[in-house]
Amino acid sequence: MDDHDREQQAELARGVREELQRHGVVGLATTWVDNSGITRVKAVPLARLEHAAAWGIGASPVFDGFLADDSIVAGRFAGSPVGDLRLHPDLSRVVPLAALPGWAWSPAVRYRQDGAVHPQDQRSVAMRAVDQLRQAGYTARMAFEIEWALSTSAPDFVPAAHGPAYGFTRLAERSDYLRELLVALEAQGVAVDQIHPEYAPGQYELSVAAEDPVAAADTLVLVRETIRALSLRCGLHASFSPKVDASGVGNGGHVHVSLSGEDGNIFRGGSGRYGLTEPAESFTAGILERVPALLAVGAPSAASYLRLIPSHWAGAFQVWGLENREAALRIVTGSSGATDAANLEVKVFDLSANPYLTVAAVLFAGLAGMTQGTKLPEPVDVDPASIAEDERAARGIRPLPQTLAESAAAFEADDALTTGLGVELATTLVELRQAEAARFADSSAEQIAAAARWKY
Ligand code: GLU
Ligand code: MG
Repeated sequence: MDDHDREQQAELARGVREELQRHGVVGLATTWVDNSGITRVKAVPLARLEHAAAWGIGASPVFDGFLADDSIVAGRFAGSPVGDLRLHPDLSRVVPLAALPGWAWSPAVRYRQDGAVHPQDQRSVAMRAVDQLRQAGYTARMAFEIEWALSTSAPDFVPAAHGPAYGFTRLAERSDYLRELLVALEAQGVAVDQIHPEYAPGQYELSVAAEDPVAAADTLVLVRETIRALSLRCGLHASFSPKVDASGVGNGGHVHVSLSGEDGNIFRGGSGRYGLTEPAESFTAGILERVPALLAVGAPSAASYLRLIPSHWAGAFQVWGLENREAALRIVTGSSGATDAANLEVKVFDLSANPYLTVAAVLFAGLAGMTQGTKLPEPVDVDPASIAEDERAARGIRPLPQTLAESAAAFEADDALTTGLGVELATTLVELRQAEAARFADSSAEQIAAAARWKY
């Protein structure tokens, strides 16, 4: 960020400010998501927007060392109380918040005081991954599926709907709330694909259209904070925690990804299995091979491992399959005419993850698979838990890590991911995951679920 950029940003801010004033906006809340998946915020009144755009808003680098409970891990590259970063709102993504009248939102990029991007800025890492993919000749479209559990009280979880799973009763029980949510998201320019009751009591799901990976992560932040804010306005509490209750089905944060090369979507029209092209197979194989390591990014909380259990649709085995909801990776082909529909779904992730790191890590893993020409094993078309253990072993079907400590070790050993994210960020992530694992080492499932319930 040099003087010319600062002038440009200030000029842009003047236009944005006028537009926001017309919408009755008084303050801009600009966010980044920390390494533990918490969306942190700084806000300025509109009168300071121009200055914030040109010079950024001060924010300590100590946040890189935060755990979800706000305790701080003093690591090799993070967690120091010394220094300052500048938070620059991305003015191209500013949107008035329909559920928080008077407020607008934008994601931020964190810069150093000398104007260079902070090497541990997660959104910039996602941009770098997109860039590397472009250099390899592909563009990605991604989307997060958003599941949440709605409660009438806190801290105890009391389901806000009692009807059967996926039952119309549940829609009727909360029809005003769900309608207001659709209205708010439409006003914010979010393209909602679907909204419906999920399996667990009080659980709902919303899916959005696929976009550029960084935009998909931004949209997740926007949708999640809209759901949270609207729930509070309605006297309700939304939890995106992987496991609101120690038992039962959890909240996932499944990630969909498709890639386009010169000839369009590479997840269809190929000569490989289920119509995959060869690069799509290698991309998928690169991710499949790294699922244990990827969990340190996409399933980063102790509560994530309460969710990742067999036969709960979270995908607890390192397998892939066509439309298999018990596979870590699910190939979705869609109806034959819908060219956009064919994609890969990573089921194992949840919403305690930082979405920017998630999209970056998925792309780095897939890219490594393409570069190395990684081959896919045989797909699995049943619930792997239904296969006898000795047969699973014979077929090379492995269970995924059952603890955060195991995922952290797999991540630390993975060159593609640690190089992609950069040594500073990768080191910090390992330190944080180890600290989170140690913090909950002696906790019961109930204690872990209770600690995570209102953090995410
Ligand atoms: N709630 C499940 C999970 O924890 C996913 C259910 C579904 O397949 O949509 O991921
Ligand atoms: Mg679902």
